[in-house]
Amino acid sequence: MVDLQSQYEKIRDEVNAGIQEVIDSATFIKGGKVVEFQKNLETYLGVKHVIPVGNGTDALQIALMALGLQPGDEVITPTFTFIATAEVVALLGLTPVLVDVNYDTFNISVEAVKKAITPRTKAIVPVHLFGQNADMEAILKLAKEHNLYVVEDACQSIGSVYTFENGKKMQSGCMGDIGCTSFFPSKNLGCYGDGGAIFTNNDELAKKMRIIANHGMETRYYHDVVGVNSRLDSMQAAVLDVKLKHLDEYILARQTAADFYDKAFANNPKIEIPVRNAHSTHVFHQYTLRFDSAQRPLLQKALEEKGIPAMIYYPVPLHLQKAYKNERYKEGDFPIAEKLCDCVLSLPMHTELSEEQLRFIVDNVDLVIC
Ligand SMILES: *Cc1c(COP(=O)(O)O)cnc(C)c1O
Repeated sequence: MVDLQSQYEKIRDEVNAGIQEVIDSATFIKGGKVVEFQKNLETYLGVKHVIPVGNGTDALQIALMALGLQPGDEVITPTFTFIATAEVVALLGLTPVLVDVNYDTFNISVEAVKKAITPRTKAIVPVHLFGQNADMEAILKLAKEHNLYVVEDACQSIGSVYTFENGKKMQSGCMGDIGCTSFFPSKNLGCYGDGGAIFTNNDELAKKMRIIANHGMETRYYHDVVGVNSRLDSMQAAVLDVKLKHLDEYILARQTAADFYDKAFANNPKIEIPVRNAHSTHVFHQYTLRFDSAQRPLLQKALEEKGIPAMIYYPVPLHLQKAYKNERYKEGDFPIAEKLCDCVLSLPMHTELSEEQLRFIVDNVDLVIC
């Protein structure tokens, strides 16, 4: 699905020098490299605060911890996403309220959010799934009307740009109260281990989140709140600082591959290609097709025989996962998410795809879905 070796070959000298610098300085935790990367990412995103943390799941957890929510408070999030989003809500004793998504964009349905709001609702966590921003204009408006926090799960969408009705452009993860991202190796900006970051323009929330991520302490060994231990280490920051310089190039490479797929599949009436939202650029963390669910196992098998990886993101919506099943939800409650789980398939998508590889993948898909 990804080709991190070929990508590394092109930046080997820069990355190795960065890592060597960290080893020579022996500042492995909270070193200068982390601050350097933090500043560079703040500049890239045009956001006031970047708080580097241990991974994307921690980023979401720390964000929710900073909002001062009480047990039982409700947090609305889509049922078609990676588990981390709802996991941290449940872990903190909050109530995940799941809602359906839009068939076209895979992203949270604003109509569904509207219907799910109750007096206990405190926050909305939209997920910018597969690299395209959710309908943030409508979500922010709704949140304002109901006095709700918005925490963006931008783990798949770093670098995606959203355009508001008034023409204002903003980076994914920098529009709500807080945004969270992951630097997991296969993410669009990935390190060589685990990593993540939190974004905010709110000084007070930034301060709180820095304290929470550092054992709840501001002054050493004085703990004012219950915190966690979550930090990006210096070696990962060194890798990320190099890759950040190439992020726009990487995004372009993904978009070029997506354009190739789009054009090639446009002639196939049995395949629905990803729909691009007019208000957001798409950074294609995943390139996800939809087609007749009966054919999916056949296609997966045929591709596997040709050595072409293809993955189902995601096979089961959150409301039907064993850990999240409860009296609130049953099969049929979120028909769009359930249908998507049956009919989606993601093709290889990364920065190093050649036209020859893309052609080979397309031809093999067309052989089965016809
Ligand atoms: C990857 C991902 C996460 C979690 O990030 P980790 O760094 O793996 O903890 C959360 N939400 C979404 C949508 C993701 O894709």
